[in-house]
Amino acid sequence: MSTTKKVQRNMRLSSTLFRSLLLFTCAVIAFLGITLSAIYYFSYERSAEEELSALAQDAALHLDQTAKADKVLMLQQQFSGEMRYTLIDPEGEVLFDSHGAGGTAENHANRPEVQEAYKSGHASLKRYSDTLQTDTIYAAVKLNDGSVIRLAETRHSLIAFLSGLIVPVLLALSVAVVLTLLLSRRLTRNVMKPIDALNFSKPLDNDIYDEMKPLLKRIDEQQDQLRQQNKELALAENMRREFSSNVSHEMKTPLQVISGYAELMTNDLVPGGDSKKVATLIYDEAQAMRKLIDDVLVISRLDEANEMAEGERLDLQQLTLKAKERLESFASKQGVQLCVAGTSAYIYGNETLATEMVYNLIENAIKYNHPSGRVTVETSIEHDCSVVRVTDTGVGIPEDLHDKIFERFYCVDKSRSRETGGTGLGLAIVKHAALYHQGEIAIKSMPGEGTTFTLTFPLVQDGAKADNSP
Ligand code: ADP
Repeated sequence: MSTTKKVQRNMRLSSTLFRSLLLFTCAVIAFLGITLSAIYYFSYERSAEEELSALAQDAALHLDQTAKADKVLMLQQQFSGEMRYTLIDPEGEVLFDSHGAGGTAENHANRPEVQEAYKSGHASLKRYSDTLQTDTIYAAVKLNDGSVIRLAETRHSLIAFLSGLIVPVLLALSVAVVLTLLLSRRLTRNVMKPIDALNFSKPLDNDIYDEMKPLLKRIDEQQDQLRQQNKELALAENMRREFSSNVSHEMKTPLQVISGYAELMTNDLVPGGDSKKVATLIYDEAQAMRKLIDDVLVISRLDEANEMAEGERLDLQQLTLKAKERLESFASKQGVQLCVAGTSAYIYGNETLATEMVYNLIENAIKYNHPSGRVTVETSIEHDCSVVRVTDTGVGIPEDLHDKIFERFYCVDKSRSRETGGTGLGLAIVKHAALYHQGEIAIKSMPGEGTTFTLTFPLVQDGAKADNSP
């Protein structure tokens, strides 16, 4: 089986800021550099073209006013310098070239600007030289005698122009790196200042960026949850400790009785006629202890299992009939009449626990009854629920104790409970087991008027499994 491990990256706010700012600055420098250079280059080029055309027209005007024989001489004298002047006769022969030897140059008749000037009187165009990475602007004007005067100006192409910018741009970038580094450090310090000062023990009391408030709210909620959980844990721990001390306390009484009588017997202090009575007492106490241990085991198991691990479809009526069978002799001993009525009502659950619930309720109804009293157990389906109702004509329970009786080890009348073999855990088990079966228990009782306990569970259809079964 392969495990995916999350790799934790080292992240620094200053580095992140630095990277973003640097990227942004470089992009801005590059964009502005290229755009401004291109704008400058093209606007300069346009005006250069216009200027050259004007110069060509001017030269043509002068040449037209000059006699044919003096034209070359005039060009040599007046138009020498940086600008290239070429005088081409109507056949394309070069009569004069300020940047070359006139007459030796090749025929210029097929040069586009010359051809265009022959045809329409004037021309201006630009040619790009790949090898020299240069742009040359030409302006040609046809003279009255049919020859053409051509002016040419050569300068760097856009690419060459831009490559000339590399050094200044690199310089600007180095300055940008340093400035960005300083700026990102400063920004980080400023951003971090309120974060460093955060008080996490009271997250919502901090004066902090709005963007961080949801995070602090989550921290606050989690701290609340933790506090709650700690409280619940402490409560559970407390209950567990109280339960253990109650268990050992409850165990002591029967143990003391047993060891007391055993000691009497060991020292031959029990008269022969009483030995059976003493043995019965020892037996009863041992039974009480066994019952206590059984109940403690059931309740401990219920404490461990919050959810039903596995269950089966159970008929409350069948469980009731079985419990009745087991309790019949106890009922007749108490002089209590025990009746079971009703229909099949199915629940989904654990048979041992479900039987224990019904058994405990019926046992109590007999125990806390009057001689010649009556206990009625009724199973039914009500409002889509499976219900078992145990009603007795016994002593009843005062209303203020209706919650208390479900607490562990709580007995309304301790001596009566002991007399009848009660542990004080019976109803605690019933309530816990009812919850385990997604059910609930209700009580209706008044002192002297008997008691009714009602257990209600989610209904399981005959032959079907409960929808809400785990
Ligand atoms: P116990 O082992 O003492 O019977 P339970 O948890 O079963 O413990 O019951 C708690 C107390 O509730 C009992 O001590 C008893 O006083 C009271 N009680 C329970 N069932 C009945 C009932 N049907 N009628 C009157 N009192 C009852």
